Amino acid sequence: MTDEAVPTTFARGELGQILLDRLDEAAEYSEPGPGVTRLFCSQAHHEVLPLISTWMKRAGLTPQLDAAGNLVGRCPKAQAGAKTLIMGSHQDSVIEGGKYDGMLGVALPLLALEALDRQSVTLPYGIEVVAFGDEEGVRFPTTLVGSKALAGSVTPDQLDAQDPEGISLREALTTFGCTPDDIPAVARNPDRTLGFLEIHIEQGPILEQRNHAVGIVTALTGIERHQVTLSGKAGHAGTTPMEMRSDALVGAAEMVLAIDHLLQDTADLVGVVGKLDVHPNAVNVIPAQVTFTIELRSPEASIRKYGREAVTTALEKVAKRRGLSIEIENTYSADAVACADWMMTALEKACTKVGQPADRLFSGAGHDGLAMQLLTDIGMLFVRCKDGLSHHPDEAISADDGDIAIRIVMAFLQQLTPP
Ligand SMILES: [Zn+2]
Repeated sequence: MTDEAVPTTFARGELGQILLDRLDEAAEYSEPGPGVTRLFCSQAHHEVLPLISTWMKRAGLTPQLDAAGNLVGRCPKAQAGAKTLIMGSHQDSVIEGGKYDGMLGVALPLLALEALDRQSVTLPYGIEVVAFGDEEGVRFPTTLVGSKALAGSVTPDQLDAQDPEGISLREALTTFGCTPDDIPAVARNPDRTLGFLEIHIEQGPILEQRNHAVGIVTALTGIERHQVTLSGKAGHAGTTPMEMRSDALVGAAEMVLAIDHLLQDTADLVGVVGKLDVHPNAVNVIPAQVTFTIELRSPEASIRKYGREAVTTALEKVAKRRGLSIEIENTYSADAVACADWMMTALEKACTKVGQPADRLFSGAGHDGLAMQLLTDIGMLFVRCKDGLSHHPDEAISADDGDIAIRIVMAFLQQLTPP
């Protein structure tokens, strides 16, 4: 373990470099192979805990593994029951992921707290920093188990979820040294919680495009998914005249383009046709049936509704013209979660204090805030990532951007007054 404590005074860029060094060290706790693979309740998860504990202790927090596999660092005020600000992110990664998705939001606030401590700054409220065990949901078909535990929304059936080897989440937690039956006691008291702040890499190209180091997140996107079934008529691909065909695949192709045009023309709406199945899927048969998925995401419910209606109208028009029958079934829907105004304003003030532009953007991905908003107000700060790349071994941030984000968090913490 490198012994890189924070100096009492620090030059510009110095904290950012320490941050990157720490994240390099954390990345060593991984399955073999490219990038970082650190799944929930794995050996790598177990082995990275002492490193995070060291960071927590240096920040003046007492680390403790909770019943849900979260490593929680608490300051004495938080332990004594004072109103507490929770910060943190997830320790787990996707398979062959990067060094920053998740772990940045653990290491960065701890370094900010350590730097404040070195400057003898005392905060008038409690602090907790959490390294959530599971956010990505890679090992078990569950996500956000860690943050759901804090919000009190883990249900017993979620503990029965099994990994590909048939090990249940309950068994994995027990082997990991946790007591899953005590998960209900992990739930925080909303009256004692000030809010939840997560620092995360952007995982997209917008900040790079704006040439800004950081951005304030307005909302975590709402998501809906649909399954479209198009039925035409199978037929001999050689003997059926072109004008007599009801080719479901040609119809689907036109629909995919119509969806793309609509998405290109609508601000704050993104989406994808990601999966397509063709029946009978044979080289010399006119496709009789095609099923495909549509996913729509927007931070605004009204925009998502507009998108859904416009897509439906466009698809029905194509189906009618091509003599196809169409069924559209909604398979999944999750509302957008807004970040709290006071959090955005406080982050904005902190950005101004550090001399950084404080533009806002929405998150197209889900994060721990989705679960934490059931407990408390949430806020998020995005840090620019190289080429907008994430969930990839080449995921990267710069030391300068890390430094700026640390200073913003320090300013945020210092100006925050408990209501
Ligand atoms: Zn993440």
